[in-house]
Amino acid sequence: STGLMAGKKGLIMGLANDKSIAWGIAQALAAQGAELAFSYQGDALKKRVEPLAAQLGTPMLFDCDVGSDESLDALFAGLKAQWDTIDFVVHAIGFSDKNELRGRYVDTSRANFRLTMDISVYSFTAVAQRASQMMPNGGSILTLTYYGAEQVMPHYNVMGPAKAALENSVKYLAEDLGRDGIRVNAISAGPIKTLASSGIGDFRYILRWNELNSPLRRNVTQEEVGKAALYLLSDLGSGTTGENLHVDAGYHVVGMKAIDAPDI
Ligand code: NAD
Repeated sequence: STGLMAGKKGLIMGLANDKSIAWGIAQALAAQGAELAFSYQGDALKKRVEPLAAQLGTPMLFDCDVGSDESLDALFAGLKAQWDTIDFVVHAIGFSDKNELRGRYVDTSRANFRLTMDISVYSFTAVAQRASQMMPNGGSILTLTYYGAEQVMPHYNVMGPAKAALENSVKYLAEDLGRDGIRVNAISAGPIKTLASSGIGDFRYILRWNELNSPLRRNVTQEEVGKAALYLLSDLGSGTTGENLHVDAGYHVVGMKAIDAPDI
């Protein structure tokens, strides 16, 4: 095949449905000739994910709960059985108890703090550990983060500290794996309506606020995140690692957010 990803093989984790950021990235990579495998969480999502993977001609689908080392080991053993090496991995996974994505951060429970950190932060390191073993010729590893790591956003709560820890993990992993030619980066996406973001209190308000206050005066799409991922995962990004690339219509540079959202 031809294209920026011709001859490259990789894993996309976190596909839930056609609104998933993982889907926007998968489409951008497939259009440039990448060979893809997907992992999804649990049987319930299988019937959603199967037809999507089929659209991209990808038979490689793995059920994986990133909260379990055994499940991650099985995923990478399954991949290894098909492919000797891989070139990239996309980690588009996050989780926190919906009941704590409203109200105040100060009320976070220990149990949900632990679970949020485990699924949304540690899993990326656990994935990098295993993926890097399959990247003898170098590679590119990508995760997804949000501005709530840098500044306080309404209702993002414990996901804020979790994304801050994730962004810092990107830097440590970039240093550890850089000598092996493996790049590690994050995309900080602006708010996009997905299954995960729908769990955040007043998410519609956040979308509207971003639309009115970002320099581009609009929200971003899954496709735009896909294009940025293509840059970081292809040879175009060969000089970039440890980076947090904002794909947020510029929202993160605006200090004084002046325009309020009218009745929504
Ligand atoms: P999504 O619901 O489509 O994807 C989240 C995925 O995480 C799902 O596929 C879900 O199955 C998976 N997941 C949760 N717990 C898991 C576990 N234990 N094991 C394996 N998979 C698990 O939503 P999305 O918005 O596409 O989220 C993808 C990533 O993008 C997340 O890290 C999210 O925080 C990040 N992000 C989203 C936005 C946004 O506004 N949507 C903005 C910035 C960053």
